[in-house]
Amino acid sequence: MLSTSALSPLTQQFLEKEERYGAHNYHPLPVVLNRGKGVFVWDVDGKRYYDFLSAYSAVNQGHCHPVITEALIEQAQKLTLTSRAFHSDLLGEFAAFITAFFGYDKVLPMNSGVEAVETALKLARKWAYEVKGITENKAKILVCSENFHGRTLNVISFSTDPSSRANFGPYMPGYEVVEYNNINSLQQALQDDNVAALLIEPIQGEAGVVVPDEGYLSKASALCREAQVLFIADEIQTGLARTGKMLACDDEDVRPDILILGKALSGGTLPVSAVLADDEIMLTIKPGEHGSTYGGNPLACKVAIAALNVLRDEKLADNAATQGRYLREQLVDLQHPNISEVRGKGLLNAIVIGHPNKDAAWDLCLELKENGLLAKPTHGDKIRFAPPLVITRSQVDECVDIIRRSLQSLS
Ligand code: PLP
Repeated sequence: MLSTSALSPLTQQFLEKEERYGAHNYHPLPVVLNRGKGVFVWDVDGKRYYDFLSAYSAVNQGHCHPVITEALIEQAQKLTLTSRAFHSDLLGEFAAFITAFFGYDKVLPMNSGVEAVETALKLARKWAYEVKGITENKAKILVCSENFHGRTLNVISFSTDPSSRANFGPYMPGYEVVEYNNINSLQQALQDDNVAALLIEPIQGEAGVVVPDEGYLSKASALCREAQVLFIADEIQTGLARTGKMLACDDEDVRPDILILGKALSGGTLPVSAVLADDEIMLTIKPGEHGSTYGGNPLACKVAIAALNVLRDEKLADNAATQGRYLREQLVDLQHPNISEVRGKGLLNAIVIGHPNKDAAWDLCLELKENGLLAKPTHGDKIRFAPPLVITRSQVDECVDIIRRSLQSLS
């Protein structure tokens, strides 16, 4: 394992300052970045790396995409925030654009991903009481085992990860966990007439890129429809071309009743999230019942339109499908004894490290960093490989070579 003494004095200075003055709620790799372009980022010493995390899929369009940056700068010089007390000339334009893009009646814009999840959950409860007719305060929302939907108290209330929950109680009631990728578990839970919605990640990103069996999402969606239960897809990490389709749900022709987007909706420039639904659901929320000072601000609207246009114009879903398939093939071909599994869809992938040393995945990430590729372990033994979607085949070849060389350190 690399000691901090192997880091440059400049890097150490930045790490020490952050450690001294910043809360210790993350455990980052010891690298300090100050520049990004496309699939690359550079550290403060000028060393270049392939970014194989893409800020957890927020930088799908590549770092500092010129079209998105131009939209950001142009709008930042004109008007950035009105709050929702007044109209801006961009909210309607953005709403018309994104609803046509994804095929929904309405959009409710927010900022961070978890705020959009909260919005979707509030909408589901409102709909349950005012449309489905569930008795007040009895609505139940189904969630999946090993879920990750963010960090608010409400959302961690239904996490199954002890480190997300411990000592943050008491927890919000009204949730029930079903087993992910188990249709019988869902079917059983749907017997209860008080179920309002199922909240689901089409592929579980934070759990370590867990891809459900083919047919699971379409069956789950059909069962929900039969039971008059809303199917809420959290596509914050899987959506926006990451898994080889514009939405991961598209792969099984599933149209969520509520669609949650975030991260790459701004191409990594500022927090922009959105909830899409049809009128029957969206219009249950009335003025004053939900909102956010920054939600739907003109800067975000302008940037989000540019970010979506880039995904479509550059056919990034197709590139994610092609390069992702190629990357997985190349990783499997390594036939490395310490890679026990290669999995994923499009450019949302993970390898599972099989090694007696429980720190092996972390150590491998340090070695990858030394060799010019940044990736991060999740859940101990898994490493996510999720580069920006603009990556080319020859760049994938170069990255696989870095991975192959780095694996030699795991003896
Ligand atoms: N939902 C999913 C599926 C995510 O992957 C994440 C973040 O990783 C979130 C929600 C939370 O998004 P944010 O960190 O922007 O609040």
